[in-house]
Amino acid sequence: MDEQPVLDIQNLRKYYPVSTGLLSRMIGEQRYIKAVDDVSLTLREEEVVGIIGESGSGKSTLVETVLRLEEPTGGSIRFKRADLTSASKTALRRHREDAQIIFQDPYDTLNPQKTVFQAIAEPLRNFRELEYDELRERTAEILHEVGLRPAEEYLDTYPSQLSGGQRQRVNIARSVVLDPSLLIADEPVSMLDVSLQAGIIKMLDRLKQTIGFSMLYVSHNLPVVRLVADRIGVMYRGRLVELGSADDIIENPKHPYTRALVASLPSITERRDRIELPEQQGKDHELPSGCRFRDRCPDAMAECANRTPDLETVADHDVACFLHHDHGTDTV
Ligand code: ATP
Ligand code: SF4
Ligand code: MG
Repeated sequence: MDEQPVLDIQNLRKYYPVSTGLLSRMIGEQRYIKAVDDVSLTLREEEVVGIIGESGSGKSTLVETVLRLEEPTGGSIRFKRADLTSASKTALRRHREDAQIIFQDPYDTLNPQKTVFQAIAEPLRNFRELEYDELRERTAEILHEVGLRPAEEYLDTYPSQLSGGQRQRVNIARSVVLDPSLLIADEPVSMLDVSLQAGIIKMLDRLKQTIGFSMLYVSHNLPVVRLVADRIGVMYRGRLVELGSADDIIENPKHPYTRALVASLPSITERRDRIELPEQQGKDHELPSGCRFRDRCPDAMAECANRTPDLETVADHDVACFLHHDHGTDTV
């Protein structure tokens, strides 16, 4: 197997400027929401990494910045050895074929004026030279693979004639029809009825086996991420605070935030006491000094206010917390 990761993200940052009060503007002070702040992560061939974290932790910004749908503020992104960080629009277009994204809302992403065939044939027309009959044939084949069977019944339907689950299957078909190396799924089932979610997740897993893509799977639902991911990365307020194998993160969480997430999971084998966390203090751009989980952390110590903990390898996975190491970056 190729040793080079499919995706190599280093120190990635995405800051959004915040409009502040008159006084701040007069003294020339610009504040930022640090939606993604110094995130490093690699994705190996055919590996699935789940990204978990509460609303606003930066999951979507991370994956959108990786594909340059959002422009990075700093850091680097390499995809199959190519540097995407400063790639031109033309160069990026060449990678679009090989790196695809599925968004959360199945109702928002399909053009209501286009049939299922037209929607799926579009990327094929852009990147493959196929005759009309071949386009129909390939589209029918991929519809069959995503579970819309018999495919011929779906080819000429419009999105308005489909359910949410069927639309998401069409979106997935569109994303994988070019056999990508990287698939990014941003909460692909969270807007669907719970009864439909398992079927879509199984289908994604089957496609991964057949096509062999690597996947970044974003969700705030830990049980779902556990089902799909080989490794799990936990985000908190723009930082990756823990990263390890899915089993390790669930069975041996080290960061106090991950411990609280895991404690909220139902378990049939052991009794888990829930860990109630206080609310976040201040607005999204108002971070506490030092560790940004400090205002909610049940284990916070004096030093947590002075330095930001770096993500360091401890035993078998990576964690950013002074309970487990003393490496940090001095902050105000
Ligand atoms: P959710 O689970 O709700 O989807 P998320 O983890 O995907 O949340 P993001 O949408 O990445 O979180 O948002 C991270 C932070 O960046 C939030 O504070 C959000 O308000 C802010 N943010 C995201 N997009 C923008 C934008 N275009 N302009 C300004 N701030 C933004
Ligand atoms: Fe809590 Fe300190 Fe660890 Fe941050 S570094 S999670 S505040 S113990
Ligand atoms: Mg999101």
